[in-house]
Amino acid sequence: MLNDDDLNRYARQVIIPNFDEEGQEKLLKTKCLIVGAGGLGCPVALYASAAGFGYIEIFDQDIIEVSNLNRQIAHKNNHLGNNKAENLVEECLKINPNISIISRNKVFDEKIDISGFDIIFDCSDNPETKYILNYLSHKFKKILISGSAVQMEGQLAIWKSGMNADYPCYECIFPRTNQRAPITNCREAGIIGPITGLIGNMQVNEAIKEIAIKNYQSTAGNLFLYDGFAQTLDKIKLIKNYQCPICSDLAM
Ligand SMILES: [Zn+2]
Repeated sequence: MLNDDDLNRYARQVIIPNFDEEGQEKLLKTKCLIVGAGGLGCPVALYASAAGFGYIEIFDQDIIEVSNLNRQIAHKNNHLGNNKAENLVEECLKINPNISIISRNKVFDEKIDISGFDIIFDCSDNPETKYILNYLSHKFKKILISGSAVQMEGQLAIWKSGMNADYPCYECIFPRTNQRAPITNCREAGIIGPITGLIGNMQVNEAIKEIAIKNYQSTAGNLFLYDGFAQTLDKIKLIKNYQCPICSDLAM
């Protein structure tokens, strides 16, 4: 049962028929891991907190630099030099002090136990972290919601390969390669702030649907490509790779 404070706070959500109080109770019981407190991690954490995801843990070891501020929207000029995860937690608590949210000032690696989480938000900007999150999410049967953004383009996908063998995983679609990957990080290739804002918000929207919306059909197994220059959103059906080392449980 929601208390009066929660009923007021989440009033505009619980009146939606497919969500209602039951959906809010589910969100409040949901444990979210957010890896990265930058351009994607900021909107993901702010909106996940506002929506009432009951427990959130944020990993990031970086400190806030002035060149982050065009997109990492929780970080302000007077926060320069602070740890990103710690600052993001403070900003989330200003929106919603009723949830549990903690920061981890450290790099995310494969030794970190994700078994207690329900939703994993990949808000990282490097391929190695994405492969680790994919491996762990598959192994522990978690919902992985990954975003990425560069210049004026963004990507979004929901990965549930550990929960349903018909779904592909991240590595099915983006196999590891020895060739040098194209430059896709913001530092070298650049990024327009609203692109990360949009993709981060879409990540939280998918999480709300996965946890709290009744009669909802998952968008797992699709890749969404947003082109902010042409203003288009493409939905691409993904095909599982049955030779994938993660899906055939041979990896690591
Ligand atoms: Zn796979």
